[in-house]
Amino acid sequence: MSGADAVAHATDVVIIGGGLVGASLALALEPLELSIDVLESIPFNHDAQPSFDERTIALTWSSRRVFEAIGIWSEIATDACPIHSIHVSDQGHFGCTHLDRSLINTDALGYVVPSRTLGHALLNRLQDSIPIRYHAPAVVASLQSDREFVNVQVDNASHDRKARLAVLADGGRSALGQQIGICRLEKSYPEVVLVAMVATDQDHQHRAYERFTQHGPLALLPAGPQRFALAWTLPKTTAKAYAELPNEEFLSRLQMSFGERAGVFCNVGERNTYAVGLTELYQPVSGRVVAIGNAAHIVHPVAGQGFNLGLRDVAELAENIVNATEHHQDLGSMAVLSRYADHRRVQTRRVQHFTDGLLRIFSNDYPGLNLLRSAGLQTLDMMPGVKRHLLRRTAGLRGPLPRLARGLPLRPN
Ligand SMILES: Cc1cc2nc3c(=O)[nH]c(=O)nc-3n(C[C@H](O)[C@H](O)[C@H](O)COP(=O)(O)OP(=O)(O)OC[C@H]3O[C@@H](n4cnc5c(N)ncnc54)[C@H](O)[C@@H]3O)c2cc1C
Repeated sequence: MSGADAVAHATDVVIIGGGLVGASLALALEPLELSIDVLESIPFNHDAQPSFDERTIALTWSSRRVFEAIGIWSEIATDACPIHSIHVSDQGHFGCTHLDRSLINTDALGYVVPSRTLGHALLNRLQDSIPIRYHAPAVVASLQSDREFVNVQVDNASHDRKARLAVLADGGRSALGQQIGICRLEKSYPEVVLVAMVATDQDHQHRAYERFTQHGPLALLPAGPQRFALAWTLPKTTAKAYAELPNEEFLSRLQMSFGERAGVFCNVGERNTYAVGLTELYQPVSGRVVAIGNAAHIVHPVAGQGFNLGLRDVAELAENIVNATEHHQDLGSMAVLSRYADHRRVQTRRVQHFTDGLLRIFSNDYPGLNLLRSAGLQTLDMMPGVKRHLLRRTAGLRGPLPRLARGLPLRPN
């Protein structure tokens, strides 16, 4: 192909991975009149899609805003259960804290949404999009940046692409990041997370619970009438044993660890366990490739921040791309990508340290530490200013927000 032909056939942006984060970025960029290809290894709308499985996702207030701005919140809202307050407690100790939406003046602190609902809303819109071409199955095998383009090679060559910019949103599953020198610092936790739907005999009144148990943190998120999504961090062997217990016995263990604050647990759905880890990239950029979402950072689900962090990557990267197009800059240039990366590094680290710190403090039974912890929760409960600060941070409302996270279109009308 001649140089001129190559330019003619080049795409502006190739997104590798059409999971929750990759698909969200494609829709965020849709209004920009760019040519966009999404390459996804799992066939369209297939049950094996790992990004849209049985788990529920707690969305922050600012993530709701992003979905509003990209025009799919109305589809998600029908299945979204609002969280009005959060009760935090420590098993066997007196301290507890109550966090309420009135502290930050929002309709909700966040929303609990089945990840399948998010996936379907995203894919339905992508299916109808003209500027976005979603290719699936298309397994990307290699990436190579040169002065002008990044060459993206697909396993069977049918969807090979040349692009100005490649966005790696493969969830860190493939070896692509490593192949191009995007190295991850990885830490795996000895615990796993057991996830299930549980029913109680009481209305939840949109209250979520975070309880620190002798095994690890246990979260109950309101997910429907008298229904909670349970995420319980447990040592591997305990989780395996709990996952296999008869329903009655599992419910009684849960009741013992959680108490009766949310009523009597009367039913449990399918139980799944997930390995959890923490990964961090020093530099999410290599050549014309930038990593976002789980490809760039994985955090423990204890604070429900992983996808929210990925959606903030989407909002920030989209804003950098729109600025670059307005100033006729090359989308994949180091100047554009490093501006994005420098900006994201601080927030990503902050969230990672916060979730890792929570686990260290609340999964430790050193004598004295549990008393301090309990006193800390009690003191926090009497400090509305500190609670407001904490909630604004976890709701994604701290610091300068990109346009999408404020619910605004990428380009002012
Ligand atoms: C138990 C649990 C509970 C969680 N709860 C929450 C929560 O409450 N709130 C929250 O914000 N986050 C939560 N998370 C985190 C959240 O699920 C992830 O952050 C999110 O799914 C990451 O999305 P992603 O698109 O970056 O990656 P993925 O979901 O991994 O998607 C990557 C996509 O890339 C595709 N792909 C991979 N390799 C290739 C290749 N070579 N070529 C083409 N395509 C490829 C895959 O098929 C997939 O579709 C939770 C996680 C777990 C495990």
